[in-house]
Amino acid sequence: MMTFPQLIRHRGIEPLFRAIEISVAAQYSGHPFHIHAEGLRGTGKTSVIRAAQKVLPPITRIRGCIYNCDPAKPHCPLHRHLSPGEVAAIGSETVPRPFLEISHSAKAGSVVGSIDLGKLTGQEAPVAALLPGTIPQAHRGIIFIDEINRLADTCPELADILLDVMGTKPGRIQIEEPGLPTVEMPVSVSVWAASNPDEDPGPLHHIRKQLADRFDFLVPVSQPQDPQAVFAILKSRDVQFTAQAAIAPLSPARLDSLPVPDDIRRTLATIYVAFQLESLRAVETLETAAVLEALLSGSSTVSLDHLSRVLPFALGHRTSAEILAAIQKFLEDLKAGGRGASSAAAASPGVLLTRRSGPGRFKAWLYSLLSRLPRRDRPPQRPSGAPEAEKRNASPAKMPSPRDSVITAPPKPATPLSELADEQLIATSPKAHD
Ligand SMILES: [Zn+2]
Repeated sequence: MMTFPQLIRHRGIEPLFRAIEISVAAQYSGHPFHIHAEGLRGTGKTSVIRAAQKVLPPITRIRGCIYNCDPAKPHCPLHRHLSPGEVAAIGSETVPRPFLEISHSAKAGSVVGSIDLGKLTGQEAPVAALLPGTIPQAHRGIIFIDEINRLADTCPELADILLDVMGTKPGRIQIEEPGLPTVEMPVSVSVWAASNPDEDPGPLHHIRKQLADRFDFLVPVSQPQDPQAVFAILKSRDVQFTAQAAIAPLSPARLDSLPVPDDIRRTLATIYVAFQLESLRAVETLETAAVLEALLSGSSTVSLDHLSRVLPFALGHRTSAEILAAIQKFLEDLKAGGRGASSAAAASPGVLLTRRSGPGRFKAWLYSLLSRLPRRDRPPQRPSGAPEAEKRNASPAKMPSPRDSVITAPPKPATPLSELADEQLIATSPKAHD
């Protein structure tokens, strides 16, 4: 198998490399980051994903712990009650970061955990114990699922387990076996998945929308369009037969080493509300991904440029192409607006905005920009007409004043039923009397 750095990065697959780097850096910081590569068969997405395991930074764990306990934060049933001294007495070891696959034939018990039959039937001292499944054993590492759309279609039970594990960061897992105490523990696992949306049963977001939304990034992968790239791929096949050079693992920076400026957060909050994004996960992902993109680019601040770069992968599966284009345009306008005043601060438009305008003017300026943008209920290509709706949508911040509303009283005062004559109990329209 080719290793990660040896694979040819053509334009169609380049975003997947970046997504993997972002996910690895997030996982290195103890923050799961799930990615889903979608593309036609044979575009190389699974090769890239499988090759990435060679460059994952290793982990240090309590010696022999199959749950990969961090010596500083033991979480497994065997070690979580130990004192730092007791943990130190066991010792620690450095092992490759877990990279495990879940196949379509996997059973829920083998994925979550089940009774350890080996220990139960042991000759010397039979004991009932739990054997952690693929997910708890991949703690602090990666789980890979190929053809996740098919898995979601044919193994809804496995899809439910993934929904639980990917629902929070870190996720939680519960191992239950009759006769044994239930074990619950946190799991920090990044799920990487691949699928071909053109093959049966179709794209994941049609099969299980909720599961599709759990992925932070949806990365479209396409074939190389350039003959030069295809030539390079063919030529690179020779490398497999040469001696493998030592491969340096990715050495990502820590997520918490770069603060998120308030202006970036304010921009994200505005995007969420103004463009009516459905899932809060979308803006949470955008924030994390923008920080990691900045770190991986060697930048010391998070800027709107970093946000623009990760936008298509964080929102491609969560909103329409029109809205995505409008948000991208919004960010471009924001960048252009920030650059107007001083070229010295142009490198960091977010910082410039507060310095130059103060929070009040910043808000007013942001709303004036927003008023020019298309909204979900007002698509850009909508035919003319309905001027009232245009006026209503022109300023999203403005609420109608009650003073301007026309209040019409009912034509007759209400009368209790007991005071009505029998013929008045049956209402008829005025026309019927004519
Ligand atoms: Zn442990």
